[in-house]
This record gives sequence, C-alpha cells and structure tokens, in this order.
Amino acid sequence: MANKVITRFAPSPTGYLHVGGARTALFSFLLARHFGGEFLLRIEDTDLARSTETAVHQLLDDLRWLGLNWDNTELVFQSKRLEIYNKIIDDLLKRGLAYKAYETDEELTAQRAVAEKAKRTYIYRRPQLTDDQLRAYESENRPHVVRFATPVKDYYFEDAVLGPGQGVNSTQVQDFVIRKSDGMPTYHFAVVVDDADAGITHVLRGQEHLLNTVNHIALQEALGYPRPIYAHLPVILNPQDGSKMSKRDRDKLIRQRAQNWLKTNKTSPQDLAAKTSLAVSQIEDWLKDTQKQLDIPEQQQVMSVIGLKNTDLPEILVHDFRKAGYLPEAMLNFLALLGWNPGGDRERMTTEQLIELFTIEGIGRSNAKFNREKLLAFNTEYAASTSAAHLVQAFKAYLAVNPESPLARASDEQLAKMLEMKKGFRLLRDVDESSRFLFMRDDEITYQPDAVEKVLKKSDNQGLTVLRDLRPILATLSTWNHATIESAINAYGAEKQLGLGKIAQPVRVAVSGGTISPPIFESLEFLGKENTLARIDRCLTPAL
Ligand code: GLU
Repeated sequence: MANKVITRFAPSPTGYLHVGGARTALFSFLLARHFGGEFLLRIEDTDLARSTETAVHQLLDDLRWLGLNWDNTELVFQSKRLEIYNKIIDDLLKRGLAYKAYETDEELTAQRAVAEKAKRTYIYRRPQLTDDQLRAYESENRPHVVRFATPVKDYYFEDAVLGPGQGVNSTQVQDFVIRKSDGMPTYHFAVVVDDADAGITHVLRGQEHLLNTVNHIALQEALGYPRPIYAHLPVILNPQDGSKMSKRDRDKLIRQRAQNWLKTNKTSPQDLAAKTSLAVSQIEDWLKDTQKQLDIPEQQQVMSVIGLKNTDLPEILVHDFRKAGYLPEAMLNFLALLGWNPGGDRERMTTEQLIELFTIEGIGRSNAKFNREKLLAFNTEYAASTSAAHLVQAFKAYLAVNPESPLARASDEQLAKMLEMKKGFRLLRDVDESSRFLFMRDDEITYQPDAVEKVLKKSDNQGLTVLRDLRPILATLSTWNHATIESAINAYGAEKQLGLGKIAQPVRVAVSGGTISPPIFESLEFLGKENTLARIDRCLTPAL
C-alpha cells in the first residue's frame, strides 16, 4: 500500500466497553499492525450529559487488558477541540454552506408528527425565513443549532465490506445539525474533522453507522477532505434467538426470570415491589415493556429477591468477561472470529498470527453469532497451554477486578499453587471460587446445608463418624504433606473397608463447607494441620 495505513478507535465514554466495541477496536488494531501503520485512540465526548471521566478510565483499562495498545501518546478528546471545530463551522456559515436553525424541540416534534401521520419519512428542509426574521432572531440571541446545508444529490459509496451501492438518493438527503445549542459539535461533524486531521485512511465501525456515512461524505466534500475507506462490520447476534447482542440482554434475562418467579410462586408484582425499594408501577411497567430498563442497583435488588446471581447473567461488557476470568488472549482470538476468518477452518491464532493474516477482504457480510460455548472452549484451551508464570499474571489481573476474593491477598507462589491444583479449569473464577476456603479464617467457613445433610448426617451420621475417627489419626501425623495425609487416610479406609469417596467427602465438607474443592490431599497440605483439625472440630460440635 502506498500510503501508511492509519486506523482509529473512537469510543464515546458513556459506559464500559462492550464486545461490539472491542471487536471494532481489535479489527482496527489488526489492520494497522498488518500494514505496519498506526492505530489511534480518540475519545468522542461531545455528548456532555452522557460522557464521564470514569468511563474514559474504564475504556482505557479494558483496551489495555486486551492488549490493544494505541500509538498516540496524547489522547485526543473532542471536548478539548472546540476552537478547531468552531473555526470551521464559522467558515461554513460565512460561505453559506451552513446556517443557523431556530426551531424549538417542540416544533421539530410537531413537524415529525405531521410527517408520520401522512406516512412519509420526515426530512428536515431549510425553512424559508425572511431577512427581517433572521435579523430579529440574531439580535435577540435566540437559541439555535447550526445545520449543514447538505447539497441535494445522490450519495452512494462503496463499502469495503458491504460492497458498492450503499447510501441514499437525493430525496432522502437532509440538513443535519453540526453544532448543538449547547455549543458542542455533533458526532457527525467532529468525526469528519478529526478523521481528516489524523489522516485516517480506513474507518472500521459497526453497521449501525452505515447511513451516517452519507453525512460524513457530504461534509468531506464541502471541506475538501479526502474520503477514507469505510468498512462497516457485521452485527453480533445472540445465537439463542438471533437478537442483536446488546447491553440490554442482562436486563432481558432478569425480566424473564422475574416473570417465572412470579408464576412459580403464584404471586404478584406488588409482592416483588414490596421486597424491594421499587414502586409497584415501575415493576409493572418494566415487566411488560421490554423497552424499559432497570438501572444496576435496581436490578441487584430484584435479583436478590428472585435468587439470581451476577454470575448467572450473560457477560456482555469486556469488564464482565474480565470478572468472569477469561484470558485476554482467548478473548481476542474469539473476537477476531466474529465476522472475520482467515480462510479455511483455522481457528486458534495468537495475536501475531492474527496480525499476519488479517485483511479487510476476510471480513464477511453476514451477521456473526456470539457462541459462548466456543469462547469457553477457547479459554479452557488457552489456560491449559499458557505458561505458569503468565497464568499467575492473568490471575492477578482477574483478582484486581474481583477484590472481594480472599485470594486477592495471596502471594504469587500461592496463586501458582491454586492454578496448578485446578489444572484443566475453564475460567479463573472456577479456580478462585473453589479455593477461597483455603484463604479464609476457620470461622469464616459457612457450611452448605445440603452438603451437611447429604455428606455428614445421612445414614446415621456416617460422615461425622468418619471425621471423629480421623481426627486423632490426623492429629498424630508428625509430617504434614499430601503423601503422609493420603497414606493415613488410605490406611483408615482399608481398616474400615470404606472407599476414598466416603472419607474424602466428609473431610472436604469439613474444611471447605461444600463438596467442591481442588484435590483434597493437596488442599489439606496447603491448609496446614492446625487449621484442618480446627475445621474438623467445628463440624463435630453439636451446633452444626
Ligand atoms: N463514537 C462513535 C461510537 O462510539 C464512533 C463511531 C465511528 O467510529 O465513527 O459509536
């Protein structure tokens, strides 16, 4: 390629990075790296009401976690470039290529309603104001926006993924806003100026932006800017119902479960409302209107009533996947295959291989399915083939977003041990959850009632009897390691003619509170003699 390839990722900082955004960032990154070009990051924060600094930090953090490092040392924030935009807008106004428009929101809504009633698409056209009116509005400083006087003609362009013939014909062209009444440029305006300033050669973005490209092209022509190559990426779908994967999916699942809960418990929304701080009307509206969403604290309240855990919700945001314990390499590999393939049925690729193989031609037109089983399988494979040292680093990154885990206090050596004991795991969360008991104080262990019932008390307290017998045997061990523990337990099993399961399970319940743990002998070695005996004693106290 003659020119250096320059791509960019331009998120709006209104929340966490979702998988769609991450896929756009990845493809832009891969294309730039493939051609030895540049990958730039720009923060599109012209929506003052919705943009936050926290969201900027979260976005950067997620991108870094994925390893999608950008090349600009200084981040571009659109909110800091108002002077540049205003200069260009003022020039367009002077040249008559843009104009001030004075309609209020109510007037625009009324115009839209008229069009809707007449069953035609609403197209904004420049109102014919007299010079006197214009002078009067100007002198009274009437609130206004600035609109671009879009030249009326057909706008068709070739998309690098979707092919030629994208766009609209002259009847669909309208004058869009380029500066809002609060003085901020719109996305359409700022994106065009910034892409040109940065010399962006390829714009990769989601298909929801396809028709926005018409506005961008019209502006580029007026401003004498070159047109970058546009590549609009396939939509990402939920495989179960073919719906577009979206941040709303979590809310959707909570709604479905709440409806089931009401049915199973033969109860009413009033009852659900009473158990939360939400109003009955809000719960009712939310239950029947899929457009309505609860915010996160409200969701949490409903979830605790209906018994739904955070880990039951589908991961949508990159942050969700981080918290669940996916490895960034597995995630990247999986994201790369959402709408792109290198030809053949090759699937497992390192980032270096992705860079080598990535081309726009490999991006397909059809929607991409987000297959969670495949992602989980990727993660399992990556975890099994990653070096121990690297896994420890990944585990620490996982714990940084799960600071409530007692493993957050563990040393690197201890973490390595946990990873080793749980070899073959699917998610770092599995390692975390199954080994938490090893890092808790003895009195923090809570016993799962069904485990106590089934493993300790069933068949006339069989499990408790095992613990009572074993306690003195373990107490006399002078060397405490997995081999000495194993032979002591085996000897006891042989004497009593009990299989290992009948002994290991009660011990497991005694030390962990439940029935799942890493290999038991290693676990006991790690826990130490004193704590093991203390936990057995707790079980043998009559209160249990
Ligand atoms: N800020 C826009 C978004 O987050 C960027 C769209 C574009 O890449 O042009 O969707």
